[in-house]
Amino acid sequence: RKRLLSLYRGRPTATKSGHHIDLCANIGNPKDMAAVLENDAEGIGLFRSEFLYLESSDYPTEEEQFQAYKAVAEKMNGKRVVIRTLDIGADKQADYFHLPKEANPAMGMRAIRICLTRPEIFKTQLRALYRASAYGKIAIMFPMITSVEEVQQCKQIAAQVRGELTQEGIPFSSSVELGIMIETPAAAVISDDLAKEVDFFSVGTNDLTQYTLACDRQNQDIARFCNTHHKAILRLIRMSAENAHKAGIWIGICGELGADESLTRTFVDMSIDELSVTPTSILGLRAAISEIE
Ligand code: PEP
Ligand code: MG
Repeated sequence: RKRLLSLYRGRPTATKSGHHIDLCANIGNPKDMAAVLENDAEGIGLFRSEFLYLESSDYPTEEEQFQAYKAVAEKMNGKRVVIRTLDIGADKQADYFHLPKEANPAMGMRAIRICLTRPEIFKTQLRALYRASAYGKIAIMFPMITSVEEVQQCKQIAAQVRGELTQEGIPFSSSVELGIMIETPAAAVISDDLAKEVDFFSVGTNDLTQYTLACDRQNQDIARFCNTHHKAILRLIRMSAENAHKAGIWIGICGELGADESLTRTFVDMSIDELSVTPTSILGLRAAISEIE
């Protein structure tokens, strides 16, 4: 099978009728880049930036972050790299953040909520991201969005950072796309409004499933109550895709469901523009898409 799949290396991802889908990779560390190149990803659809914070005993500096983002952008050689801003909290804890103990951490102080509460941490990361954008095609993605106001605040802080870099004479790309994850039911339901604010959506089906079905994603005991193909999830994704396209922006899927070949046909029918999966799933998925009429 491996040899068979290698036939799909270097080929575009398209259905039989020639409908193209961007097939990208999820990574959690610059070390994953070998697998990305080996499996011929058309871009990075999700670079989880948490590793920088989790592997460190203190806040990673702007320079450390810049080097990590730049390395990945350069290796992708002009292909798009979507880097997600800090998604810490809940299951991912770093002591030096001194986050409060919470009864329901998945619904607590995490991800964008930390960044908007402590903008100095957020600005350091955004400075590193914009600086790295001079070395490749970087897009920035905000996690755990539930409201238009949050997105507007993120964009305001990003604009501040661009202003500062300009003043300091530090180069950055003027065409960095800003996008959000659709991973809360609220975001999917107001995706018409959110689509007017951003350049792209990426559906995080792991959290979208957790929050829609009220199923803790870390609790194996309730797995049988957690139907990942639940009609509610598929409706929320379809609704988000329709609203994205109405506003003229693109939409991808970067949660686990994106690699589920039993749903590939459904996602093609929804006109999902990009699927981002673990690198080793890419060639199999490219083969599956090429079989679709
Ligand atoms: C998701 O929630 O589906 C996702 C891609 O993000 P993470 O798994 O890192 O929460
Ligand atoms: Mg998530």
